[in-house]
Amino acid sequence: MATRQMQNFINGTWKAAQSGDRFESRNPAHPAELIGVFPQSGTAEIEEAVHSANRAQESWRALGLVKRAEYLLRVARLMEEDTEPLAQIIAREAGKQVNEARADVVEAIHTAQYAFAFGHLGQYGRVLGDEVPSKRCYEILEPRGVVVAITPWNFPVALPFWLTGLSLVLGNCVILKPSEYTPMCGARIAGYFEQAGMPAGVFQVLHGAGETAGAPLVSHPGTHVVLFTGSYGVGLRIKQEVAKHAHKVCTIETGGKNAVLVMEDANLDMAVTASLLSAFKTAGQRCVTAGRLLVDSRVVERFRDRFVETAKRVRVGDPLDDKVFYGAMINRQGVEKGRRFNEMARTEGFEVLLDRNTEAPPTPDGYWLKPFVYAGPWRSDSVCLTEEAFSPHVAIVPVRGVEEAVTVYNDTKYGLSGAIITEDYRKAKYAEEHMQCGIFYWNLPCIGAGVRLPFGGVKQSGNLIPSAAGLIPVLTHPKAVTYNLDTTIVMAQGLSAEIK
Ligand code: NAP
Repeated sequence: MATRQMQNFINGTWKAAQSGDRFESRNPAHPAELIGVFPQSGTAEIEEAVHSANRAQESWRALGLVKRAEYLLRVARLMEEDTEPLAQIIAREAGKQVNEARADVVEAIHTAQYAFAFGHLGQYGRVLGDEVPSKRCYEILEPRGVVVAITPWNFPVALPFWLTGLSLVLGNCVILKPSEYTPMCGARIAGYFEQAGMPAGVFQVLHGAGETAGAPLVSHPGTHVVLFTGSYGVGLRIKQEVAKHAHKVCTIETGGKNAVLVMEDANLDMAVTASLLSAFKTAGQRCVTAGRLLVDSRVVERFRDRFVETAKRVRVGDPLDDKVFYGAMINRQGVEKGRRFNEMARTEGFEVLLDRNTEAPPTPDGYWLKPFVYAGPWRSDSVCLTEEAFSPHVAIVPVRGVEEAVTVYNDTKYGLSGAIITEDYRKAKYAEEHMQCGIFYWNLPCIGAGVRLPFGGVKQSGNLIPSAAGLIPVLTHPKAVTYNLDTTIVMAQGLSAEIK
């Protein structure tokens, strides 16, 4: 891929930052490879984008649901034709193994198709009865206005579509601030909207760092909804800032310390496969990554031998190689954080079962972490057992029975996803009912996302579960409309209409 000088997509045109400041995107597997150079957006770009979005909003709203939805179908088709080149960009820029990168694109396509279909279903508001027969009551949904979508690097194509697809179909304009680690993916998305003929100002992409490009969009009085996906610390700050503005709403989707529960009666082959996928896909850099395997003590020895043996064989390497299981870490900070967690497992006194980080890295200059597996009893004061490592770092914790497994599952401040592996439907039902999480799986890994299902967490994993149809109350406000079909005024609740 040739190095390219890239620009923002503002008001339907490609523009550099007025300051001339720029930043680089590099391949985390081969940092010498420059992916592109991008504008570091500042006040001038933010003002122009917010102004353009507000100017475009009324005509976009007036276009109507079906016509707005058609743009999303066009974008989905453009992405379908571009699946392989786009997957290669994701693999190069985010370090995601290419099969995972393709899945990222397919998820984005499905999300755009979902948004299109939603527009055609026209499930938009309600007709309500009224106590006065001469009145007709409706609830219509009005777009809130300008949506700011701030996304992380780890699903650099799918996540922008989760946040923007329905936003647009429901009549809002969107300003996307992609992660500074995956700006080429953001630029490619802008390209599809441009090719689809999206009216100027309706969908815009502003590149730059969170502090200088993201934060001012959050606090700008001309933006109305903030949809954030990323780390808890940043999400909390965004929520606090949004609280200062009466007209603004926000959703935050943040991290987790997820787990797979392996019961005494589990199919152990399935348990090992589900646990490996949950712990190590995307090098453990998924919000739904399992950092904990809570295994019934009656099978823990058998499970851990098989898990460790399989983890020894997991292939880590060039993200473009279809034969590797996972690719690179996103950057040096990600590697350092993972190493700190691995070290912490030792200093906190856990037994290290596998540390493959003494092996030669796939490339000398890339950002790599190999599987790290440790074991020990549950301790809620342990940082490595309770905090998000965001790396291939997983603990095997013995538990006795489903009740103790669920108690341990709930003993962190997060509540995103969890899975149970069991042949006993009663145990599955108990876990489904008692696990404090937003996403629950039975006999599956705890990773994955269905575009029509809610996706999100409770506690410090986020608020409002803002996905699929769950986004509607965030993106629209209901307007109560009442028509009088009579020639006189009759008030509800027996209120007198007589002028005395
Ligand atoms: P991050 O550092 O929180 O960044 C997320 C986004 O926020 C980036 O675009 C970032 O910009 C921007 N940002 C940073 N500081 C900001 C500020 N003060 N104001 C406004 N925006 C700001 O997260 P990440 O490292 O990219 O992603 C990893 C985290 O995301 C993990 O915790 C993971 O669990 C979570 N995640 C959650 C979900 C979910 O659905 N629950 C899904 C995926 C990931 P820059 O990066 O350009 O600075």
